[in-house]
Amino acid sequence: MKIRTRFAPSPTGYMHIGNLRTALYCYLIAKHDGGDFILRIEDTDQQREVEGAIDLIYQVMEETGLYYDEGPDKDGGVGPYIQSQRLPIYHEYAQKLIELGGAHYCFCEGELEGEDPCIHLSQEEIQEKLNEGILHVIRQTIPTTGTTSFDDEVYGHIEVENQTLNEGILIKSDGYPTYNFANVIDDHLMNITHVVRGNEYLSSTPKYNLIYNAFDWQIPTYIHLPPVNKDETHKLSKRNGDASYQDLKKQGYLKEAILNYIALLGWSPEDEEILSLDDLIQQFNIAHISKSPAIFDIDKLKWMNGVYLRNMSLEQFHELLLPYYQSITRDVDLLELSRVLQPRLEKLSDVEESIDFINEPHPFDASIYTHKKMKTNPENSLEALLLVRERIENFNEFDNDEAMSDFFVNLAKEKELKNGRIMWPVRVALTNKSFTPGGAVEIAHILGKEETLRRIDQAIIDLQQ
Ligand code: GLU
Repeated sequence: MKIRTRFAPSPTGYMHIGNLRTALYCYLIAKHDGGDFILRIEDTDQQREVEGAIDLIYQVMEETGLYYDEGPDKDGGVGPYIQSQRLPIYHEYAQKLIELGGAHYCFCEGELEGEDPCIHLSQEEIQEKLNEGILHVIRQTIPTTGTTSFDDEVYGHIEVENQTLNEGILIKSDGYPTYNFANVIDDHLMNITHVVRGNEYLSSTPKYNLIYNAFDWQIPTYIHLPPVNKDETHKLSKRNGDASYQDLKKQGYLKEAILNYIALLGWSPEDEEILSLDDLIQQFNIAHISKSPAIFDIDKLKWMNGVYLRNMSLEQFHELLLPYYQSITRDVDLLELSRVLQPRLEKLSDVEESIDFINEPHPFDASIYTHKKMKTNPENSLEALLLVRERIENFNEFDNDEAMSDFFVNLAKEKELKNGRIMWPVRVALTNKSFTPGGAVEIAHILGKEETLRRIDQAIIDLQQ
């Protein structure tokens, strides 16, 4: 039997990390076995719907490469794939379920406490009320005795007493189905074999199984996923403004790194953690999904993003950084800049700060010349810069890092100084920053001879004041 999974987001205007993780796992479970991955839009809660949200879902799926085999814009014969377009289907099955004794009309207002009195209405009484146009819902009818059980692939055997299940609404008074009804009907009609979703649905699953049983339909394999938490006690939630895919992209994380990282939120690979989407398809296995909550660790994502940046070719990395270089007005060696940034950068949005000395150095600050380890201070830095200034006039290989490094090292040797006594003052003179991407050699290379001399001259003037 071909595996069929579905990702069933509600269009709320936001691709929460937990949602994307569900989408990814659905995709991986299907693709690992050559199955189908289906996108279904669950928009039956019209009040929660946000304009443009469906397009956003398409966009994220496309961007992350989670291509679906069937969905609203890709009919595989079991559509429509947008729930608000399936209302007649839900009504038809609600009627059938009533006939089978699995549901009933309810004319009560507000929340029910205890048994639903409408369960005792006769056929005639119901028809009368319907004819009068009294507002009503269709509720699930739950047996008062017995138990319902199932085996979840992650959480194991679950068994509940039927009497603990509430007779929830299946069709609301506005004619829309609730999730509790629509998910069962759709999963069955769309031939979904594996239901993959957050564990908040675990406790309602027995109710869904009662519906499957009433129709005599095959119950799908259930894979409930652990929550993604912010820390030990708090769930990541959009209400708290926690991370969404879009936010992470904006913060400069690569989609490959985001996808790789969220794959590990609830699943652990055999060994290597850096995994492409293809690797994940190959390696993903349901048996390694964990039931304990996953913690969203932004530092780990940062680290992983850095790994992805370093694993690129210099050309790819450079290409990626070009948009960030638009603020540079000086004619500098941008490829060298990328080469220097690549081993150090953790996320793209850090570029701005790393390169903010290129158009102009930061304002002069004598204290930066004092460096304990380098044994420098403003006085001996001035001496070092005067020396460098005198000799560098005749040095012309600014684009040869090795030659430039030799130049500084030889100068230090000649004066019997540690390298840092020369290099640190030059680095500060060129930037007026204590943290820079690369040292004196790389920065002089990036800036070129003319600008390097100009900045050293200016530093000498500043230090002489
Ligand atoms: N529409 C539900 C949600 O966004 C999906 C649950 C499911 O995957 O069945 O939470």
